[in-house]
Amino acid sequence: KYHKVLAENRELYNQVQDLKGNIRVFCRVRPFHPDQIGNRSTIDYIGEDGSIVIANPLKVGKDQRKSFTFNRVFNPSAAQEEVFLDTQPLIRSVLDGFNVCIFAYGQTGSGKTHTMTGPNNPSPSDWGVNLRALNDLFHISQSRKDHMTYGIGVQMIEIYNEQVKDLLSTDGSNKRLEIRNNSQQNGLNVPDASMMSVNCTQDVLDLMSLGHKNRAVGSTALNERSSRSHSVLTVHVKGIDQVSGAILRGCLHLVDLAGSERVDKSEATGDRLKEAQHINKSLSALGDVIAALAQKNSHVPYRNSKLTQLLQGSLGGQAKTLMFVHISPDEESYSETLSTLKFAERVASVELGAAHSNKESGEIRDLKDQVAFLKDSLAKRD
Ligand code: ADP
Ligand code: MG
Repeated sequence: KYHKVLAENRELYNQVQDLKGNIRVFCRVRPFHPDQIGNRSTIDYIGEDGSIVIANPLKVGKDQRKSFTFNRVFNPSAAQEEVFLDTQPLIRSVLDGFNVCIFAYGQTGSGKTHTMTGPNNPSPSDWGVNLRALNDLFHISQSRKDHMTYGIGVQMIEIYNEQVKDLLSTDGSNKRLEIRNNSQQNGLNVPDASMMSVNCTQDVLDLMSLGHKNRAVGSTALNERSSRSHSVLTVHVKGIDQVSGAILRGCLHLVDLAGSERVDKSEATGDRLKEAQHINKSLSALGDVIAALAQKNSHVPYRNSKLTQLLQGSLGGQAKTLMFVHISPDEESYSETLSTLKFAERVASVELGAAHSNKESGEIRDLKDQVAFLKDSLAKRD
């Protein structure tokens, strides 16, 4: 009941989430495809409090079920809009100068691209996090225009076999890009990737279709390529305070990761084996970095993959991270579902309710008051 009250009060919920630290994990369960409806699901239970229980189709008895807890679990019927509601506060913090990384993790076919981009040529209700985020940034920056002037620029790159490629080049050039870690002057990690300034939704839609086209070049099927590479849409925000002249920079990385499925070593050979090794290495490097941050380790191993090098300035410190982990409900996916949830559990923040600054303690006191108030009004309702 307590969690239901919290869920009803999204704003409060999001403030509580904020205090749980800078790393959060949301799990999203894909619905069955139309031709699978009626099949048995491995998802046994989804709670309002972020818990999920899965059942192994090959076992019976007490070992059959495994339970996990995340910041939130979206059930298969959750709409794009609902998923975005809990993402919005992070997006908005970019306009206040925060760096934010949002990842989509999961096996191929589990719904990563659906969450981040939505289907091809989506209607607005199908829009994924990417378009909703940019739209929101346009909207809020407009509403602040009498005291802040914002400029929004976008880069889109792909990491395939540990090589970085520009997805927004218009001249068809396919050169390898370098990651620079010491680019404090302009805040760009990949200074040679095309940077496009965007002002409205149509600008973004145009760029996405360009990126889509560039990604398909040279690969037999876009779907195959996209499941074996990471795509990173980076939104750079620069705000100028019209009174003080102070400049504020925030950066949002929206990352559609390569499929996390393990490849059978006995079957993969040649290029496929090489791809699989690169994916494996970069996903575990990402897991290691986030786990090290969640555990507040003094050493964070950013150098082990291109992806973590690229995102170094936006993972850790004051930056905020959201990992969407995606699972499929079908029985054939059970072992991948289990390993996805184990990955997610490892990167989920272990320290709940951590408060370090005085400001946060004050906030916690306020929130405790609000929670007490809500519990009280709930008691009265019964
Ligand atoms: P991935 O990017 O992880 O490989 P996709 O996002 O391409 O997976 O999803 C695979 C298929 O499932 C697509 O046809 C997609 O439209 C559908 N799908 C995924 N998630 C959902 C969802 N939440 N609701 C409806 N359809 C979905
Ligand atoms: Mg995809």
